[in-house]
Amino acid sequence: ATFEQLKLNDALLKGLQELQYTSPTPIQEQAIPMLLQGLDVAGQAETGSGKTAAFGLPVLQSINPELQQVQALVVVPTRELAVQVRQELKQYARFIPNLKISAFYGGHSFKQEEDSLAHPPQVLVGTPGRLTDHLSRRTLDLSKASKVVLDEADKLLEMGFEEELDKLLKALPRQRQTILFSATMEENVKELIANSLQEPRFVQA
Ligand code: AMP
Repeated sequence: ATFEQLKLNDALLKGLQELQYTSPTPIQEQAIPMLLQGLDVAGQAETGSGKTAAFGLPVLQSINPELQQVQALVVVPTRELAVQVRQELKQYARFIPNLKISAFYGGHSFKQEEDSLAHPPQVLVGTPGRLTDHLSRRTLDLSKASKVVLDEADKLLEMGFEEELDKLLKALPRQRQTILFSATMEENVKELIANSLQEPRFVQA
């Protein structure tokens, strides 16, 4: 298949062309059409499979750049991954005007993140601890974040972020699209899927 056949918009196709991505990876081919339909998807995929674009492209396509509010939240286990995912999404979104993508994570200025929320990003990538800090201090409004991605879910649970995930999910609208990716599908990941996704479709790299 081609990215055109997956019904991605012209701005994203231009970005992919620039990056010289010629064809979708298997996980992208499976996940992108379902995600564009708005379905909840649980994907088993490792780093290197192209999972970031698999969830990133449909999420970016759904954003309204005219609205300055957090419309999509991507939760990742580490600051390194937060920085990396933000960077990758920015590349894909290069030809979408007025789109802001931020990364929030522990170990650097909270104030700087708080100040940046004067003009909220449409896409926010972050680590669970820092994101829930913002919720507690009421600096972050997730009530319009109708898409959420739990990336590397097995690692999120392994690192003990269950409580934070719970708080974040409660701050999101009830009517939302929930996307989960995990390298493994142990019992605790399956439980998280059962508790946070609605009628999930499963895809595997
Ligand atoms: P990920 O599994 O998301 O960590 O992606 C692994 C690497 O593959 C990243 O560096 C991406 O930039 C790259 N990549 C993702 N999708 C494609 C594609 N369809 N064609 C070529 N490279 C890709």
